[in-house]
Amino acid sequence: MTHNTGISKNILDHIGNTPLIQLNKITKDLPGNFYAKYEGFNPGHSMKDRIALHIIEEAERQGLLKEGSTIIETTSGNTGFSMALVSIIKGYKCILAVSSKASAGKINMLKAMGAKVYVCPAHVKADDPRSYYEVAKRLHSETANSFYINQYFNKLNIDAHYNSTGPEIWEQTNGEITHLIAASGTGGTISGVSKYLKEQNPDIKTLGVDAFGSILQKFHATGEFDKNEIYPYRIEGLGKNLIPSATNFNVIDVFEKVTDEAAAHRARELAISEGLFTGYTSGAILQAAIQYAEKGYFDENSKVVLILPDHGSRYMEKIYCDDWMKEQGFFDSQKQAHQKVEFI
Ligand code: PMP
Repeated sequence: MTHNTGISKNILDHIGNTPLIQLNKITKDLPGNFYAKYEGFNPGHSMKDRIALHIIEEAERQGLLKEGSTIIETTSGNTGFSMALVSIIKGYKCILAVSSKASAGKINMLKAMGAKVYVCPAHVKADDPRSYYEVAKRLHSETANSFYINQYFNKLNIDAHYNSTGPEIWEQTNGEITHLIAASGTGGTISGVSKYLKEQNPDIKTLGVDAFGSILQKFHATGEFDKNEIYPYRIEGLGKNLIPSATNFNVIDVFEKVTDEAAAHRARELAISEGLFTGYTSGAILQAAIQYAEKGYFDENSKVVLILPDHGSRYMEKIYCDDWMKEQGFFDSQKQAHQKVEFI
């Protein structure tokens, strides 16, 4: 993951070393300084490039992947794109089981990167044979010489962020970071980065972001797996209906839940106020930062890092589409669209 000054060996040389960008307008009324770790700068446009490269290279080292191997994964889109990208350069085939919640654009992008895609219903239980977990398991057992990445239960997912994202944030803030705010899906990002940062300074607080409709916050607070917490929501990529072993709950101090509507509006605000064109979960993370600020988590000396997981180009049919926003009823409240497009 080194950035060459001259010619790069291949695209994989550009994974990681993403910029940390100060937020200047959108958080100006909150106490403290806020910085965005903009993971959309990765060549695959999300932080999942980091885990794809790390897990695949580790599997190669262990002799689990060889010429002609097939990589199989469950994915909400981003991991799939990154797995497909690394597979192209390394010469592997790539099969992906994708949730039907993923946008059509995301699925087409996976196909553009040469992956074979299976679309599975989003709103079935994790142990249902139609779920993307079960479909991936079945494809793995039916495909000779295949390797199942299994990001939800693969410890290497945490290690990828412990080895790269965490040290980058520590260096970029000169060790002055006081709070980390990150989403949790598989939990790899928040767990790996938080573990690294807390080892450098145990006073750093890690503030998680969850969705209404997901069990993570309640499970973290009570240890109880409460099925009543589970219901459909629209944010793609964070929150869960199962407990992934790639989540280390011990290094997360607290979770805050955000609504689909607020997250969508915040992503749009990030674009028009800071020029940061990001995905749906980035809006959720900004919304959580605002809620944490309202609850008094920060003061003027706080240095808060928000990990913004991916690029906005993957959400053109959703949060950046006014018709989609209207269909969800997200323009009904006082939070109206900020830009009006005039047709002549
Ligand atoms: N945001 C987006 C857009 C994602 O695709 C994911 C991964 N599911 C996350 C956040 C959560 O990251 P992690 O899986 O590392 O917890």
